[in-house]
Amino acid sequence: MTKGYQRSEELFAEAVKVIPGGVNSPVRAFKSVGRNPVFIERGEGAYLYDVDGNRYVDYVGSWGPLILGHVHPEVSEAIKASIDKGTSYGAPTELETRLAKLVLEAFPHFDMVRMVNSGTEATMSALRLARGYTGRSKIVKFEGCYHGHADSLLIKAGSGALTLGVPTSPGVPGNIASNTITAPYNDLETLREVFKQAGDDIAAIIIEGVPGNMGVVPPKPGYLEGVRELTREYGALMIVDEVMSGFRVAFGGAQGLYGIEPDITCLGKIIGGGLPVGAYAGKAEIMEKVSPAGPIYQAGTLSGNPLAMTAGIATLEILKRPGTYEYLEEKASYLADGLAKAAQKAGVSLSTNRVGSMLTGFFTDKVVDDFASACTSDTEAFATYFRAMLDRGVYLACSQFEAAFVSLAHTKEDLDFTIAAAEEAFQVVAG
Ligand code: PLP
Repeated sequence: MTKGYQRSEELFAEAVKVIPGGVNSPVRAFKSVGRNPVFIERGEGAYLYDVDGNRYVDYVGSWGPLILGHVHPEVSEAIKASIDKGTSYGAPTELETRLAKLVLEAFPHFDMVRMVNSGTEATMSALRLARGYTGRSKIVKFEGCYHGHADSLLIKAGSGALTLGVPTSPGVPGNIASNTITAPYNDLETLREVFKQAGDDIAAIIIEGVPGNMGVVPPKPGYLEGVRELTREYGALMIVDEVMSGFRVAFGGAQGLYGIEPDITCLGKIIGGGLPVGAYAGKAEIMEKVSPAGPIYQAGTLSGNPLAMTAGIATLEILKRPGTYEYLEEKASYLADGLAKAAQKAGVSLSTNRVGSMLTGFFTDKVVDDFASACTSDTEAFATYFRAMLDRGVYLACSQFEAAFVSLAHTKEDLDFTIAAAEEAFQVVAG
């Protein structure tokens, strides 16, 4: 059991006075699991250490980027060597071309990639590009998919498949929301109806490669192919958001895994190796519309930052080595099985979804294949489980609707430690 959280509590009390909610990104606040966050002092390999001296096996991995674990020696050395050459120039470097080439190696059906600073920037820019390229205004997104916090993507689905957008967040103007159509995920019939009604106005659909933001919900067999066909039929672009799944479920992302060739892909997280990077990639015909090659404007003071490019290059070079994804698959499958057995032993209903090294155990007896079924989860039970795991030295994402990430730094001992903790935590849930 952990040694308590006193220093974290003190630091949080200070933080809330000067930072909204005490955090710089909402989910970090632990609100949905009924406690305050722990403050981190450092990471190393598979572990996080907090300011009270507690060690955690980390399955958040900074929300996905740290597929190599914390402070990977090769990445750290590369960043240290780069830092003495300057931290930003606002001028081109060879590093940018090197990272671009590595990304295009993973997505060989694309010709060009533009670097930005976050996943949000990538999706926002991809939408502008799709709208500029097609001359159409509307986009389709899916219930439960998250694509960052740009206005037109912060749209919650209303009831009914063809519901026009309703802003989820105050501050998103209604006229922007009205250009976003939401549809249920994994449901081709409804999507076909959407296209029948509005197909000529739809610039693009945007979809997560493997949704991880309602918890992990894999695409049904044939679903992504169906989306691809429909978009082609109506002259709309297919944007696959692989900010989370890119270089995670396979080196070539979900599109490599499922054999889909979208028009544009959004990337982030892993390609920055733990530093802020996003990117969008596509065929030359589309990408050459981006400024300064073309008229669709998009820019960034720190885009292509040398430290971030260096971390990204080092990370992707390591991921390319043979055996990487086999290791992740084996470890993640071992963990998922162990957790499922632990839940069963305690009599707790757990529905586990996993694609490669991303997984979610939903506290429900239903098969989870869309947002509605994800929402059948018992979030109170999850919160109890989360707190019990934290107390036992396991750091999970603090929401039922997130993925756990296995990294190359997790050893079998770490997984066994986690499964042993889960056996106790599920007993706590079972009461
Ligand atoms: N797209 C997906 C699929 C994501 O998971 C995220 C972040 O979690 C984003 C976009 C937004 O990325 P960022 O938080 O870097 O802006």
